[in-house]
Amino acid sequence: MDEPMAYIGRCPECKHVIFASADTPNNKKELAKDVGDCIKSGLEIERMSFEGVRKATWGHDPQCKYKRR
Ligand SMILES: [Zn+2]
Repeated sequence: MDEPMAYIGRCPECKHVIFASADTPNNKKELAKDVGDCIKSGLEIERMSFEGVRKATWGHDPQCKYKRR
């Protein structure tokens, strides 16, 4: 059975996850746009399982200097 996958955007400073979008067949268009936006704002894109997304550390570190929106 295939595990559901998602793309995440990681903060280049604190490495915490600040964006995630499901990688599903009916989400391709939106995903491409979202990932493009993330790359434009300098995030590190990574593909991981939903499980990994759930376990990831979300939101910027309080010390992170990158947060600007
Ligand atoms: Zn950060």
